[in-house]
Amino acid sequence: MDDLDHLAGDDLAMVPVGQDFPEIREAVRAICRNYPGAYWRNLEDTGEYAKDFVAELTRAGFLSALIPEEFGGSGLPLRAGGVILEEIHASGCSGATCHAQMYMMAMLVRYGTDEQKARYLPGIASGELRYQSFGVTEPTTGSDTTQLKTRAVRDGDDYVVNGQKIWTSRALHSDLMTLLVRTTPVDQVKKRTEGLSVLLVDIRESLGKGMTIRPIETMVKHQTNEVFYENLRVPVKNLIGKEGSGFRHILEGMNSERILVSHESLGDARWFIEKATAYAKERVVFGRPIGQNQGIQFPIARAYAEWRAADLMVRTASAKFQAGLPCGEEANLSRMLSSEAAWNAGEACMQTHGGFAVAREYDIERKWRAARVQRIAPISTNLILAYIGHGVLGMPKSY
Ligand SMILES: Cc1cc2nc3c(=O)[nH]c(=O)nc-3n(C[C@H](O)[C@H](O)[C@H](O)COP(=O)(O)OP(=O)(O)OC[C@H]3O[C@@H](n4cnc5c(N)ncnc54)[C@H](O)[C@@H]3O)c2cc1C
Repeated sequence: MDDLDHLAGDDLAMVPVGQDFPEIREAVRAICRNYPGAYWRNLEDTGEYAKDFVAELTRAGFLSALIPEEFGGSGLPLRAGGVILEEIHASGCSGATCHAQMYMMAMLVRYGTDEQKARYLPGIASGELRYQSFGVTEPTTGSDTTQLKTRAVRDGDDYVVNGQKIWTSRALHSDLMTLLVRTTPVDQVKKRTEGLSVLLVDIRESLGKGMTIRPIETMVKHQTNEVFYENLRVPVKNLIGKEGSGFRHILEGMNSERILVSHESLGDARWFIEKATAYAKERVVFGRPIGQNQGIQFPIARAYAEWRAADLMVRTASAKFQAGLPCGEEANLSRMLSSEAAWNAGEACMQTHGGFAVAREYDIERKWRAARVQRIAPISTNLILAYIGHGVLGMPKSY
């Protein structure tokens, strides 16, 4: 570990961008060099999952970075997980293939029973168990999470689950899933955030026995699915945390998710800015490098400024999460600022490359498509603005 690793919060903000956890950054980049653009383009052509890439990250221990050491992980802070994802994206690769294993860990470690942790964490840490799937969003209720309709009704030692989820990513490449269900009907609770519960579902035992997974074709390489639940039995011992408090537990997972995927956007922004800057210096048109024209130079310079500012917010959010402080505001601001920084950097990179931007072999259009999705999932920009408007600034709520 580097000397900088003990720093947090304000101190961490003094560390130059891209320099904390240097050994981790270098090791991740070394792996990513084995998975160049051609690998990702081929996956898009064949529709296959990035299983070699994910297996190599697992073997190197990066996907168990946040699992406590006593269960076989590295016990690193959230920021280290973020750094891993940032380097994956800055190298032109994609963390969407496997990031859920990191962001769901915070909830399982904080709210799982000792028995659950002993049952699952060592297997997840060794790579024997894949924990990559998070089922929250539903087709009819979307962002209005507390209205979700998937019901779990207690029957002896089991819950019986009925309903439907959409956009459950990686379900076909995961052994375990975190599932948010309603255990008490919404008309029987005081607040609609009550009565929801989190279940840990074993996908291997559920497929064909009440769980059906149907892949959705999308514009990005993001193995995502509709999942149907019909009388699926989930043992009560798989309840994570307290029955009825699932919304509160899931928010913890969502904050870590927002912070971690913000690191991915920071990595995307870096990739676009580096690529655009190099091309702007090298491409000569009308007898001068195109980067000498301010119409090309300024959008890249602006993207750099936005990336640096987003980076500071992401570090603040990581430090507050790690300290166990409320960090909803910072996690949401990180998500919005980093996804916009990546999108604007992507636009600058596209425009700088002219026609070559749309040639697949440059990888810009692939990264550009992926950067666009980051402004919708896991949370769309409007919902972040609504949270800031009413939750932080106290203005009237729109919903
Ligand atoms: C590639 C991909 C992967 C995903 N993976 C997962 C996953 O693994 N697990 C999971 O559970 N979900 C996943 N999602 C779902 C994702 O979290 C949702 O798509 C996202 O939260 C937005 O919800 P929605 O699509 O239902 O949009 P809607 O809720 O229908 O909203 C549509 C638009 O209306 C806006 N809007 C809605 N209400 C308001 C309001 N009150 N004020 C202003 N604007 C409003 C929204 O901001 C949005 O722009 C994934 C989505 C995608 C695209």
